[in-house]
Amino acid sequence: MKLGIEGKWALVCGASKGLGYGCAEALALEGVHVVIVARGAEALEAAATQLRAVAGLPAGTRVEPIAADITTAEGRAKVFAFRKDYDIVITNAGGPPPGDFRDWERDTWIKAVEANMLTPIELIKATVDGMAQRGFGRIVNITSGAVKSPIANLGLSNGARTGLTGFVAGVARDPKLASANVTINNLLPGAFDTDRLRTTMQGASKKTGQPIEAVMDVRRKQIPAQRFGNAQEFGAVCAFLCSQQASYIVGQNILADGGAYSGTF
Ligand code: NAP
Repeated sequence: MKLGIEGKWALVCGASKGLGYGCAEALALEGVHVVIVARGAEALEAAATQLRAVAGLPAGTRVEPIAADITTAEGRAKVFAFRKDYDIVITNAGGPPPGDFRDWERDTWIKAVEANMLTPIELIKATVDGMAQRGFGRIVNITSGAVKSPIANLGLSNGARTGLTGFVAGVARDPKLASANVTINNLLPGAFDTDRLRTTMQGASKKTGQPIEAVMDVRRKQIPAQRFGNAQEFGAVCAFLCSQQASYIVGQNILADGGAYSGTF
């Protein structure tokens, strides 16, 4: 299926690896010019080199790395100094740490809310009106399955991302945006085989004294698909949400989790 977005410009945050990279790759394979953002410049450059060499990349597709912390005003200014009018924005930053809420000070909460709620809101604010004027816009927020099914020790993520989800539910339905072919949706990963997942599993392995492979095996068996997802299949769903064909999908929470969430809806 051709997604009809060749030549559009996408801002893909948190894209030097993992799910963000998967989204950037899927979009680039559709001929979308991608601006990829992460803090670590070296890994980001390597990701850009890898992306430019992906088999099947349409000729002329641009890959532009910008090393920046997207959760800061300076970082966002850098990204918008490069280009103001993005057609597609994928919001993403690292997830907050696990822990016990009794140990979290106000600063810990502010950091999580900045990264996983206020940053996507700032990016939406900076781009949607221009998208509406041009008659096309796609925003996909990478959130988490924890929005539907909270994970006890990830309270910072449960809280901050649910705040974003409530905001998106309202703003996506603004007729000024939805009637102008601007869609805002959230894409909710379950367990995907990325560095983030491995770090979490390493933590569990240390805590229980079990080898990491054993911990990962137990987790895999809890998923009906009996496996972790991979960044490429996540990216493909993201690219579809950015397609011309997805123009009537507005304000939704799309779960990609191999069936892990056990609910009829
Ligand atoms: P990952 O493999 O750790 O990759 C995170 C990417 O984001 C890296 O490129 C990282 O590069 C970049 N990044 C982190 N903080 C940033 C910042 N402040 N500004 C710019 N870039 C930043 O993580 P992932 O597994 O792809 O996860 C992506 C998101 O999905 C996270 O929010 C995670 O919590 C959520 N999620 C993941 C899973 C899963 O199973 N993987 C499940 C549920 C939710 P730098 O560190 O160099 O900046």
